[in-house]
Amino acid sequence: MNTYDSEVIAGILHANGYQQIFDPKDAGLIIINTCSVRKHAEERAFANLWDLYHEAPKTAKKPIFCVAGCTAKKMGKEILKKYPFVDIVVSPSNLYDLPKIIATCQKTKKPQLQIEDKIGYIKKNFPVIHTGKIKALVTIMQGCDNYCSYCVVPFVRGKEISRPIKNIVTEIKSLVKKRYKEVTLLGQNVNSYRDGKNDFTDLLKRVNAIPGLKRIRFMTNHPKDMSDKLINTMAKLDKVCRHVHLPLQSGSDWILTKMNRGYTTAHFLGLVRELRQAVPGITITTDIIVGFPGETEDNFRATMEVARQAEFDAAFVFKYSPRPGTNAGLLKDSVPAEIKQSRLEKVNRLQQETALRISRGLIGKTLEVLVEDLATDRKHLFGKTAGYRTVVIKGPANCIGKLIPVKITACKNWTLYGKLS
Ligand code: SF4
Repeated sequence: MNTYDSEVIAGILHANGYQQIFDPKDAGLIIINTCSVRKHAEERAFANLWDLYHEAPKTAKKPIFCVAGCTAKKMGKEILKKYPFVDIVVSPSNLYDLPKIIATCQKTKKPQLQIEDKIGYIKKNFPVIHTGKIKALVTIMQGCDNYCSYCVVPFVRGKEISRPIKNIVTEIKSLVKKRYKEVTLLGQNVNSYRDGKNDFTDLLKRVNAIPGLKRIRFMTNHPKDMSDKLINTMAKLDKVCRHVHLPLQSGSDWILTKMNRGYTTAHFLGLVRELRQAVPGITITTDIIVGFPGETEDNFRATMEVARQAEFDAAFVFKYSPRPGTNAGLLKDSVPAEIKQSRLEKVNRLQQETALRISRGLIGKTLEVLVEDLATDRKHLFGKTAGYRTVVIKGPANCIGKLIPVKITACKNWTLYGKLS
């Protein structure tokens, strides 16, 4: 969502005569688009802000500094106090007014704080400058009504609101005209998307029918809301990729209740079985939090056990960090840092073993790969399978942007290696 917001900022400013540059020393306006989902992300954003300020001229040529995004919403005035060189603080739902806010700041020479919630802004179409040329992110909704106890999103992104299907379809059609091949439909919980009588499966059907579009991905799903109807629709639609991101968070029912997640591990494992049955070969990835307040060794063992049973293709594992303003933030952060670290390493080790086992099973198979670019060594190409596996390929550069059959010859954990089939 944060990446997409940055693309919207670029699009809106470009439409208002601004030009994106890549050396901050030449910038007249510097925007740090923050994420507050974890403490580490916030710390990095402010470290970058300080670095950029120290490098910037302190004369009349000082650039305008803008802090945008979720942390801007959460900290508001505090940012202006702590970082007096900051000129603008703007929350996600006010990004669309940035040109006006910048103009007011320039005219009045006074700091601008725009962080009040604006319901309905998601309903409009805004220009977006996508960072890639082959695949694009497309937001379908904003906000969240779930209030998982550890999560700050509902407080900084506001109530859940869906974008109308017709706006989404228009945006994707224009992407296809620009030769984009793949879109990822984004929302905090795409399973609760709604436009009048239409739900997420109706949106998928409409997007699937867009001529020229090759692949559709979506994220993120919520296990409590993922329906049989969605699983069956995924199985039927040819452009929907065989990949689902299904955040487990914990394998302990007691911790899941404390997290206010609204499902049990039995329900979660049932979904995994159903998905694997309906969509053979599907990739299932997940998020796991270790060290939630009160997490015992037994609770953690339960997480390892569910991860073992689910056989995730990949897991993004995070150490719990309290977020002020959330319900979990009121609890004692009781799991010591070194135990969080050791639990994180244990899940990652298990995950690496599972990923390697699954990858080895793909050797010798021919998979369809959307080639995205040259690999980092500039000699090979890289792309993604429908199951979101990265594949490094021997092949000519004119394959970039094409869907090609690739024979898998080797693997390293999550990454596959192959040649044109
Ligand atoms: S579903 Fe839970 S974790 Fe996801 S954004 Fe909403 S509150 Fe946060």
